[in-house]
Formats: sequence, C-alpha cells, structure tokens
Amino acid sequence: MRIPIIAANWKMHKDSQEAVDFVESLGEQLRADSVEAVVCPPHPLLGIIAEPCRTYGLKLGAQNMYWEEAGAFTGEVSPLLLKDIGVHYVIVGHSERRQLFGETDQHVARKAKAAFAHDLTPIICVGETQQERQSGQTMSVISEQVTVALTGLDPSQARKAVIAYEPVWAIGSGQAATGTDAAQVAQHIRKVLGEMFSLKLARDVRIQYGGSVKPDNIQEFMREPEIDGALVGGASLDADLFAGIVHNA
Ligand code: PEP
Repeated sequence: MRIPIIAANWKMHKDSQEAVDFVESLGEQLRADSVEAVVCPPHPLLGIIAEPCRTYGLKLGAQNMYWEEAGAFTGEVSPLLLKDIGVHYVIVGHSERRQLFGETDQHVARKAKAAFAHDLTPIICVGETQQERQSGQTMSVISEQVTVALTGLDPSQARKAVIAYEPVWAIGSGQAATGTDAAQVAQHIRKVLGEMFSLKLARDVRIQYGGSVKPDNIQEFMREPEIDGALVGGASLDADLFAGIVHNA
C-alpha cells in the first residue's frame, strides 16, 4: 500500500513570517487528509517551521544537502544537521541543481546514500530535457539516472526512496506532461527498479510526477495507478493552491 505523497518545493522563496503563515494556513486546511504532505523551504527556514509542521502533522523536507557529515565544505549543509532539526525528506538531483550547479548522477547517488545513512528519505528527481524527449531518448535517460542514483543502496533503503519524475521541459513552464506520458515513464522506472532489485520492491517505491502541477490537473496524474503523488514548485507557494492540490489528490 503506497501512501500518496505531495511535496512543496518552495525553491528560493519566502521569508520567516511568510513561511510560518503558510504552514499554519495549510495545516488548518489539511487536518483530515490521508495524503502525506511535505514542505521543503529554503534551508534557513527549516528550523523556523519545524515546530509548526510537527503541530499540524506536516513533514519537513530540505531541498538539497551535501553527503559528508561535517568538515571544510563552505556553504554546504550536512545530513546530520538536517536530521538534528527534524527534517524527514531531502530532495536530491532536482533539475535546477543539475543544470545550474553541475550536480551529476554520481553526486545524486552519494547524496541518496548519505540520506539513508542518517535516516532521511531522499526524493530523487529524474527527468529528460525537451531535446532528449524529441530525440526519443526519454527512457534511456531515465534508466541511466535511476540506475546510477540507486546503485549501492541496500534494498531495505531503496524500497523507501521516493522518485520524482520531473520532465525538465514541464518545470515552471505551465506545460505539464499528460497523465498517460507520465504514467509510461513511471512504469519504466518500476521496470528499472525490478531489474535492479525485485518486482516486489519496484511495486513498493513511491513515484511522484512533477512539472506544472496545479489543483485542476493533479487528478490527471493521481488517477494513474503508477503515480503516487506530486512534487510541486510554483503552485506550492500559495497555501490555498497547495491545499487544493492535496485535497484533489
Ligand atoms: C519543481 O520545481 O520541482 C516543479 C515541479 O516546479 P513547477 O511545479 O513550478 O513546475
């Protein structure tokens, strides 16, 4: 039984007051929902919203982390620190990290491994670019990203990973994938997981869709049995809109 998971990726938005207001408003609106809702603010806001998130049963997620526990890594944030302030999830390999900050599949793999080593659950982002889709490479790109990211994980860890399928061309563009296309890729991800681990594990892993999700299109994805939730950027900045997505899921 895979529990649906909807995560808000605020990217580099909001200040401390806006963050607390959001959590209180979302928490009040979601009291009866059976969906796991995750809020991923910028790092400095994690500690500020940890307590209100706990109060409302919302999960706390980070947008990134480094794989080392401590050391001379100026500007980086360690899994130990995330765990210490009550973080549950950490997004790794978001396409903005890959495109703007040079993150590779190998980096993503190290981060996923470090997350599990510290009892954090990685939300591992994969997705093809427009050009890769147009040249028929979608499935091979996804195979490579999933395989490298999960290589070396123990099955007991891999089973708990969340994989976010986020076609790069759909992120922030207003042009979401169709439910059918997203489900095809999710099915392909399960095939890769089946080959790497087992069919049982492939069925247990939760797969999100991400890319221009809104309250009025979330059902197109959630009605697909292969898809277990969404990673939401733009529409996660407004508590009412994000609550609408969670309700409609
Ligand atoms: C994202 O950044 O992960 C994302 C899906 O953004 P948006 O919902 O704005 O497309």
